[in-house]
Amino acid sequence: MKKLIALLLLCLLGSSACASVRDSAGPAAETRKETVLTAQDVPGPEIIQKPIAFSNVRRRLMREYARIHYGEEMETIVPRAVVVHWTASDSMEGVYRFFYPEEQPKLKNGTLNVASHFLVGKDGTIWQLTPETALDRHAIGLNWCAIGIENVGGADGKEDLTEAQLEANIRLIRFLHQKYPTITWVLGHYQQDEAMHTELWKENIKGYYHGKIDPGPIFMQGLRDGLAGEGVKFF
Ligand SMILES: [Zn+2]
Repeated sequence: MKKLIALLLLCLLGSSACASVRDSAGPAAETRKETVLTAQDVPGPEIIQKPIAFSNVRRRLMREYARIHYGEEMETIVPRAVVVHWTASDSMEGVYRFFYPEEQPKLKNGTLNVASHFLVGKDGTIWQLTPETALDRHAIGLNWCAIGIENVGGADGKEDLTEAQLEANIRLIRFLHQKYPTITWVLGHYQQDEAMHTELWKENIKGYYHGKIDPGPIFMQGLRDGLAGEGVKFF
């Protein structure tokens, strides 16, 4: 039953797996779908696929980043944590354009451009920018194991993330946790100081660190409340 639910979840996300459920099982699957699924099983968020540039250039830069920071080349991660951010800006399209290029030559310690796996707009719209298991550069010390969710907002450090964003993040994290049971932690980027003292932290470059305040304690409290009983840990 778990497998069917997983397939149907993929369907909701518009994956090609959808066709195989329909094709192989026919109308019977439709009937089963209604009897099997409950609101609790499928709180699945609507995720819009909006990929950023992802060619062999990005893959090469990921390997380079991993070699510099972790001492081993890797392009993919086993997700152990979700790191929640804000963009410190108000334009979803603007952030998308900023993340789009594969390389940013101005960056130090590898020129892989910054990016997160998901970007959530103020109205709760969720864009997926890269595969969930891609090694994205969004949180120093944590990129080797963390899925990143960026939320549009927080310009001038103001805690202005919306209720719609909170609900979208709760649904998205619940979905990710069900898909990747290896995820045990959910943290705000500013909680990196605490993560630094756990097994989540890996960083070979001494002193490579930027202080962070995103996405603010109010949003993290909302996530903690909304995900209570989900089986994930918070700082
Ligand atoms: Zn951040």
